[in-house]
Amino acid sequence: MVNTVSAEIGVIGGSGFYSFLDDVTEVAVDTPYGPPSDSLFVGEIAGRRVAFLPRHGRGHHLPPHRINYRANLWALRSVGVRQVLGPCAVGGLRPEYGPGTLLVPDQLVDRTKSRAGTYFDGLPLPDGTVPQVVHVSLADPYCPSGRAVALKAARGRDWEAVDGGTLVVIEGPRFSTRAESRWHAAQGWSVVGMTGHPEASLARELELCYTSLTLVTDLDAGAETGEGVSHEEVLQVFGANVDRLRDVLFDAVAALPATDARTCLCAGALGAQDPGFALP
Ligand SMILES: [Zn+2]
Repeated sequence: MVNTVSAEIGVIGGSGFYSFLDDVTEVAVDTPYGPPSDSLFVGEIAGRRVAFLPRHGRGHHLPPHRINYRANLWALRSVGVRQVLGPCAVGGLRPEYGPGTLLVPDQLVDRTKSRAGTYFDGLPLPDGTVPQVVHVSLADPYCPSGRAVALKAARGRDWEAVDGGTLVVIEGPRFSTRAESRWHAAQGWSVVGMTGHPEASLARELELCYTSLTLVTDLDAGAETGEGVSHEEVLQVFGANVDRLRDVLFDAVAALPATDARTCLCAGALGAQDPGFALP
């Protein structure tokens, strides 16, 4: 794949994060898994080259279960990205995690059902290469360096983020029933979303650093006594917080380690295992 535009950091999130950057280049990228959610929008923040990818496509036309997560992570890596920030909207599973809470999770539970969640499925790629069976560790699903940077960036913007917690990812696009929500909370899980998986695990398979920043837009069904979550409520709270979330993201971008200075587990996630194809 020939790309003259490169980036070192990826942000998976909507146009609210990059639309006002001065010099943004739109780059269409194809992958062996088909096209990503949208073009990459590449710009510069604090001297760092950043590729933004609207997770749901421009106009938000892709529901969470139909996002081509494999293509998205592959596309980012193919332009040079090695560290990814993944902001997303979530529901709070504890009363103290109300709307406007920023939580940087350290754990993940997958309750999705239908998503292609690995590059190592043994099926041949279009060029004929066949991925080998490879098992990566996901014991700690998020980049420790990226998490520390994100928490510090939030603090620097007077937004005390919750350090750690478990993000449970549901299939969607519907929200949880009250019983599901109560069950999630009873497990001790912190927030519930629809896009955090398989983003984190695919990033790990490609030896990318991945950091999740979850913005609570509502109290999930079991954590409140009202009518339950509405999409309007989610959009309203996200819109009210998008400016400061963007500030935090940009500060984090500036503070992430240089690509070749990564010392975290993510950079060597495959160890000596040969995936059978060249990482993009
Ligand atoms: Zn890392």
